[in-house]
Amino acid sequence: MASTTNPTAKDAVTVCPECGAKIPKAGMSLCPYCASPLQKSPGLEQDRNPIVKRLLGLEEKPEFKEALQETPPWTPEYAQARNQLGQGRVFLIIGLILLGTSMTVAEGLLGLTLRTGGTALSALGAIWLILGLSTSRRLDKQRIIARSAYLVQRRSDTALAQSGKVTYYFTITFGDGSEGEFSYAGRGVNEELYSNGMTGVAFTRGQELLHMTRVRA
Ligand SMILES: [Zn+2]
Repeated sequence: MASTTNPTAKDAVTVCPECGAKIPKAGMSLCPYCASPLQKSPGLEQDRNPIVKRLLGLEEKPEFKEALQETPPWTPEYAQARNQLGQGRVFLIIGLILLGTSMTVAEGLLGLTLRTGGTALSALGAIWLILGLSTSRRLDKQRIIARSAYLVQRRSDTALAQSGKVTYYFTITFGDGSEGEFSYAGRGVNEELYSNGMTGVAFTRGQELLHMTRVRA
């Protein structure tokens, strides 16, 4: 690799000072995961490769500016957290109603059933609420970045494929000159996956690719 013989390579930032992510390639001026500025590498401007030049051209297109305004769809993880939040709330409310009712029907089997059911339902509801809340809080904390992007390469994690959930990894080059690898949760068998060489707007959150809208360069 050229970077190992480059005398400036050992001065380059290898960990982002802002988000702590490992930077996969020396000489980048921006962190690919949080877009924070990194130590500027000399000659980066001249080194801008043809892909980045193509992306800068893409950024002039009206379709690009339109795609930039889109809201990416929820990832499976985010959708699950929101479901847990909603269902947890319903279970908790029903559980508390059952417990409340049991106070007026304290006697016999009905009272016992109401108390047992109410306790179980409100406990389950509380757990789901907490799980959903912590996941969506964690995901919401990281900013979503929309940028011009070129898909260099895709690989999939076959070890996880047996569970029915496939995680893909995309190496992406951005119009800002940064490059990184991003994970992408598979959305199911019928999905049409992004292909190598695709250009457009990529929506990323930390080290995760949320969505990509195709815009031809
Ligand atoms: Zn960063």
